[in-house]
Amino acid sequence: MVNPISSESHRFVSAAPGYWPDVSSTDWADWRWQLKNRVTSLAALEQRLNLNTEERAGVLLAGSKLALAVTPHYFNLIERDNPGCPIRRQVIPRIEEGYDSPFDMADPCGEDSSMPVPGLVHRYPDRVLFLVTDRCASYCRYCTRSRVVSGVGEQELVTDFEEAFRYLEKHTEVRDVLLSGGDALLLSDSKLEGILQRLRGIPHIEFLRIGTRVPIFLPQRITPELCAMLRKYHPLWMSVHVNHPRELTTEVRDALGRLADSGIPLGNQSVLLAGVNDDAAIMRELVHKLLLCRVRPYYLYQCDLIRGSSHLRTPVAKGIEIIESLRGFTSGYAIPQFVIDAPGGGGKVPVNPDYVVYHDAEKIVIRNFEGKIFEYPEWSPQPVSNHHESEFAIAG
Ligand SMILES: *Cc1c(COP(=O)(O)O)cnc(C)c1O
Repeated sequence: MVNPISSESHRFVSAAPGYWPDVSSTDWADWRWQLKNRVTSLAALEQRLNLNTEERAGVLLAGSKLALAVTPHYFNLIERDNPGCPIRRQVIPRIEEGYDSPFDMADPCGEDSSMPVPGLVHRYPDRVLFLVTDRCASYCRYCTRSRVVSGVGEQELVTDFEEAFRYLEKHTEVRDVLLSGGDALLLSDSKLEGILQRLRGIPHIEFLRIGTRVPIFLPQRITPELCAMLRKYHPLWMSVHVNHPRELTTEVRDALGRLADSGIPLGNQSVLLAGVNDDAAIMRELVHKLLLCRVRPYYLYQCDLIRGSSHLRTPVAKGIEIIESLRGFTSGYAIPQFVIDAPGGGGKVPVNPDYVVYHDAEKIVIRNFEGKIFEYPEWSPQPVSNHHESEFAIAG
């Protein structure tokens, strides 16, 4: 078993076959094989990785909270002997998942209280989040929706599709529908097409989006057939989820290329995670590699206060520092917006480095990325209204 991924760089590499030396290339390239052969048990994990006690206990715990599942494609990015491996920390449970900090919540973004219809979150005035499945290709240990995702937790995702469509038909203010879950790209082409078709039949819905990690966990799923189907429903945008540059393999780059070639504008949503990407150099490499894949970094999220995720959370200052290290130093297109999804249901709130040093009615004093200070005057022409009035008076 050779894992070719050793040093991080802008190079795109494949880690296949990695831990699956005997697989045929046809099977490997088949997303159904990938799903069927996911690593879901302690035994299957220990066959391949040297686990430590924290991980072993974490796996046993996970069974009743958020299932363990990792596709072979993604699993191959994990270093066999390094519990600190940034890929491993995202998908292999640890004992710390059993610890809830005093601030942890089951539903940190307050979604359940903004559901006018089961499975449809209507938080913002003109757009909705539509939860179309509770399954993902692999499970992120910090999942913000772990209360309903993977099928082993306390709560079950119940989506009433017919009622959701009726709600959307009635609510003419909704112009943007974001399909999420779970992962919408785990639905069959025909099931997904049925949903897109139905939404496209609603005249006030202008803009469709899919939030998905399938291109990263399961790039084989991005088939030419899927792309041909999706392109019939434009304007259709997609947000993917990449946290570490190593996740951008040749297979992932090619899958993203197929989506981009189908005219789908691609954005990325990263979650800031301790020991994964809480580092300016890693984030710089990630955003540059994303641009090479024609993906625009969209959001960088402060990790939600999801139960059992405190070991993965970072100080907010780290996110601000990362944005500050990018702004001005690299392409503006490479810089995501850092946001906190406000606990309790406030929605996404931008959090930015402060470039305003002083501001009053006469001027604003700003600093640039190098720390140099500049002034911009708040000057406007003298009001001319009196002049107009007197002209009017003469004319009248
Ligand atoms: C994130 C989110 C959206 C989409 O937000 P954008 O800022 O437009 O990307 C919509 N609804 C809910 C509930 C969300 O959490």
